[in-house]
Amino acid sequence: MGLQLRVLGSGSSGNCSLISHGETHVLIDAGFSYREISERLVQYGLQPEQLTAVLVTHEHGDHVRSAHTISRKMKIPIFTTEGTFATALQEKPLFDWVEVFPGRSFQLGAMVFHPITLPHDAADPVGYRIECGGRVMAHMTDFGYVSSLVRESLRGCDLILLEANHDLDMLRNGPYPWSLKQRIASKLGHLSNEAMLEVLQEIAHDGLEHIVFGHLSETNNNVPLLRAQVRQTLRRMGLHELAFTIARQDQICDLLEV
Ligand SMILES: [Zn+2]
Ligand SMILES: [Zn+2]
Repeated sequence: MGLQLRVLGSGSSGNCSLISHGETHVLIDAGFSYREISERLVQYGLQPEQLTAVLVTHEHGDHVRSAHTISRKMKIPIFTTEGTFATALQEKPLFDWVEVFPGRSFQLGAMVFHPITLPHDAADPVGYRIECGGRVMAHMTDFGYVSSLVRESLRGCDLILLEANHDLDMLRNGPYPWSLKQRIASKLGHLSNEAMLEVLQEIAHDGLEHIVFGHLSETNNNVPLLRAQVRQTLRRMGLHELAFTIARQDQICDLLEV
């Protein structure tokens, strides 16, 4: 029985992944409507009733959107930091809230979740490194630069979901107002393709089986460009065998298991 990743959708307007082992099914983020998430679960042959918990990484709408509805309807707990709870969930009816402390691991089924602090313009955002039966997965989006903590958390993984938000030239020459361009490119913004490829070169190793690129900007990135950049980098590194997927906003990714 392996560690499974189902990306229900990822991009600047909505993010939701399901991490599973056996009968334990944990959502990371709920950035689509309850109905949309239910429909996408059904496409994988799963029902919302099978969910064990919802982990919300931070309070931005593309991550938190229907978390409270899922928690209430499915009677499952929401796990967030205090900062995320206070900014996005405190006022809403929830079934149960469990506080997450960056650096302090917790277990759901046989899976151990390590919350990792991320540099992002949110109250107390986290990414996750997940370990189970010797298998390791990292799930990291929404960070402006690769801190040494993030870099260490990405090492030694079998499977990674990593942000590839924007191409620097597309952002620079694109239609966004200057202030928004600055916010995205800042240390508390989002990870560029270029920065992602740089860290990929540092953390790629023979045991890395698959990498999913997520949280693409619809305006400042595009799939063929990113695919070409990734292929070129992997070729240069002699890692052309490394399988990768570019996650989409509007469709689910194939089930990945390590
Ligand atoms: Zn986001
Ligand atoms: Zn965010």
